[in-house]
Amino acid sequence: MTARILVVDDIAANVRLLEARLTAEYFDVHTATSGAEALDMLEHSPFDIVLLDVMMPGMDGFEVCRRIRANPKTTHVPVIMVTALDQVADRVNGLEAGADDFLTKPVSDVQLITRVKSLVRLKLLTDELTLRANQGNIGMDKALTYDDLTRGNPSRILIVDDRRSSYERLSTVLASESEVEVETNPQEALFRAAENPYDLLIVNITLADHDALRLCSQIRSLERTRMLPILLITEMEDTVRLQRGLDLGVNDYLIRPIDKQELLARARTQIRRKRYTDRLRDNVLSSMEMAITDSLTNLYNRRYLDGHLKAVVAQSQERRADLSLLIIDIDHFKRINDTHGHDAGDDILREFAARIRKNLRGIDLACRYGGEEFVVVMPDTDYDLASLVAERLRQKIAREPFAIAGGSQFVDVTISIGLSRLNESGDSVEALLKRADTALYRAKNEGRNRVVLAAA
Ligand code: GH3
Ligand code: MG
Ligand code: MG
Repeated sequence: MTARILVVDDIAANVRLLEARLTAEYFDVHTATSGAEALDMLEHSPFDIVLLDVMMPGMDGFEVCRRIRANPKTTHVPVIMVTALDQVADRVNGLEAGADDFLTKPVSDVQLITRVKSLVRLKLLTDELTLRANQGNIGMDKALTYDDLTRGNPSRILIVDDRRSSYERLSTVLASESEVEVETNPQEALFRAAENPYDLLIVNITLADHDALRLCSQIRSLERTRMLPILLITEMEDTVRLQRGLDLGVNDYLIRPIDKQELLARARTQIRRKRYTDRLRDNVLSSMEMAITDSLTNLYNRRYLDGHLKAVVAQSQERRADLSLLIIDIDHFKRINDTHGHDAGDDILREFAARIRKNLRGIDLACRYGGEEFVVVMPDTDYDLASLVAERLRQKIAREPFAIAGGSQFVDVTISIGLSRLNESGDSVEALLKRADTALYRAKNEGRNRVVLAAA
C-alpha cells in the first residue's frame, strides 16, 4: 500500500523521526514545519493522510484541522493528531476539530503503522468512489463538508454488550446525541445490523459467552453490513485482541475507563465518515443508473441493451429456452415533428415509453434503440405469445390518441413492429436483431401500423 503522507511538526527532529519510519514502510512522505505551510501544501496537491502536531507556535494543530475540514477540497482527507501528552482533553478537542485519530508521543511503531494503514485504506475507498461518481459525470456535491452530514436524521447506534452496568453507562452518554439500542446476543446483533440502517456498532470485546471478534469479522464479510463502522470497547491489558480486531477491520477503539466526552467524539467521527461514504455510494449508484438509461423516456439505452442481449441470448441457448425480440418504430414520426413541433414529438416518445412499460411483464426488457425506434426483449416467450403481445401493443397505440401540448391537443400515432425469435442452433445476437429489422422493413413497405414475423 502506498500513499502520500504529509507530516506536520514545528520541531525538525520530530518530523525526521516520523518521516524515517513511514518512508521505511514505502509511504511517500512530505513535510511541513508550520500550520500555514501545511494548509498551503494541501491546497495545491492531493494527500492521502495528514499527521498533525498539536502544539505549534502561531496556528496550533486544532486550528489547522478545523481549516482542513472546513475546506471542501480537503474535508475528506484523514487527519491523525500527534499529541505530546496523553491528555483526554486534548483528544476530545482534536476530535471536535475533526481529527480521525490520535497518536501520543513517543509514538510506538505498531500504532503508527496500523493507524496510518487503516486510514489510508478508507481514503483509497472514498477516492475510488469519488472517481466512479465523477466518471458518471455527477460528482460528489463539492460543497458538502463533514458538518453538513451530522445535521438532519438522528444517528442510530447498536451496542453489543452483555454487562448491564457497562451498556447502561454507554447508552446514557450516547443517548444525548443518538438513538441507542442494546443487544446482548452477538448472533442477534448480526441479524439486527443486517436489517436496520445503523450508523455505528459498539462492541464490548469481553463478552461472557461469545467471541466478540467473531461478530466483528461477520459484520465485515456480510454485504449488508460491510460498511457499518465498528467501535471496540477494550480493557487496557487486551492489546493482542485489540490488534486482531483492527486487522479485521474494526474502525476505532476505546480503552476502559472510558471518558464520556471521548466516547461521544469518537462515535461522532465514525458516524460522519459513514454518512460521507454512504452519500458517495448513492452518487455512484445513481450515476451508474444514468449511464444505462435514456433520459427522455427512462427506458434502458442501447449501450445497456447490447450487454444485456448478449447475456440473455447465451442464457437462453444454454437452457434451450425460447426468446423473442421486437423492434418497434413509430410511423411517420418525422411528419408528426414537422406538423406539431419537436416538443410535441418528445411528449409522444415519453408517453409511448410509458405505454410500452405498462404492457410488458417484469421479465421483458424495453429499451430505446434509437430516435423513435425501440427494442423489447422477451425471454421464455415463444412466437405465438410474442405476436400476441406485439399485436396488443400495436392496438394500444393506434386506438388511443396521444396528448400533446399539455393535453390541449391529441395526435393519432401508429407503430410498425418486426418480430424475430431465437433459432435453436447457431444463432447470434446480430442475426436475431437483423431478422427483426428486416421484418420491420417489410411492415413499413406493406403499409405500416402492423406486426410482421420474421422467417425463421
Ligand atoms: P417511417 O414511418 O418510415 O418510420 O417514417 P419516420 O418519419 O418515422 O422515419 P424517419 O426515420 O425518417 O424519421 C424519424 C424521425 O424521428 C426523424 C427525427 O427527427 C425524429 N426523432 C428522432 N429522435 C427524436 C427525439 O428525440 N425527439 C423528437 N421529437 N424527434 C426525434
Ligand atoms: Mg510542536
Ligand atoms: Mg419511424
